Amino acid sequence: MSKPVKTIVIVGAGTMGSGIALTAAQSGIRAVQIDVNAAQLEKARGYHTKQIARLVEKQKMTADDAAATAARLEYAADFTAFKDAECVVEAASENPEVKKKLFRSFAETFAADALLATNTSSISITDIATAAGARASQVIGMHFFNPVPVMKLVEVIRGLATSDETVTRTLDLARTMGKTPVLANDRAGFVSNRVLMPLINEAFYAWMEGVAKPEDIDQIMVLGCNFPMGPLRLADFIGLDVCHDIMMVLYRELGDPKFFPCPMLRQLVTAGRLGNKTNLGVFEYPPRV
Ligand code: NAD
Repeated sequence: MSKPVKTIVIVGAGTMGSGIALTAAQSGIRAVQIDVNAAQLEKARGYHTKQIARLVEKQKMTADDAAATAARLEYAADFTAFKDAECVVEAASENPEVKKKLFRSFAETFAADALLATNTSSISITDIATAAGARASQVIGMHFFNPVPVMKLVEVIRGLATSDETVTRTLDLARTMGKTPVLANDRAGFVSNRVLMPLINEAFYAWMEGVAKPEDIDQIMVLGCNFPMGPLRLADFIGLDVCHDIMMVLYRELGDPKFFPCPMLRQLVTAGRLGNKTNLGVFEYPPRV
């Protein structure tokens, strides 16, 4: 067993960051949640409180465990006060410039042997690692899935400079967090989105060409292929803008026109129909209370 992670700093308190922080705290790790947006931090705090209460209610957690988990969660606007953390996981917006700026700062802030992980869905780990300079060997992809507390997989992606020790420690950390890590190399979309996104894109083509209605496309894939959710509903859940952006990364990086986003997908994104988060995407959703 490699050096254990006692404190993990999670930068970005959105959908993914808040889930990663909760999962870490539940696994006995001190989890420091960072966000530049105070409202997002408060939202994450509310989400944690609600989830912990729900686990107690369902008798999946004792009151003592709930109190201990809550005590392991901390919230701050800036990570520089937590420079002794053994690991930082970046879960900020899917923008290379935002991520590189953060990794430049991580390399200056955290201990010489800290793990510098990113939860990116599609951006090259090798590219992000260039921002960490001499610390590039500590940079790794730790790709969690949504919703983090439920989904078992962590796709672990090594960049060109990632050291074996960084990989071993990341695999150990993922297991400590109750996840199953699986290794992938640093190619656009890694494995998960390289395979999933073209499937979703093809479902949009099937709809656009009138092969079937959206609900029937989904039902065929659920009943015929044993998918837990149809590809179009899954696209709404992920966010149509996110699906579009990932297809563009695949298209640009792999240079194959088969990855170009379907016109139907592009049109919905242009219209602001982004899926669950806007209550309208392929399907309509009741507003969240
Ligand atoms: P999100 O928009 O819900 O959250 C991003 C958060 O990062 C926001 O709260 C924002 O205020 C914060 N942020 C932005 N810049 C920051 C900075 N410089 N410092 C601190 N905080 C900053 O996004 P998300 O869906 O949680 O995605 C986060 C990352 O995880 C992205 O890289 C995304 O591609 C990846 N990812 C998303 C999913 C998914 O299903 N949503 C799945 C796997 C991976």
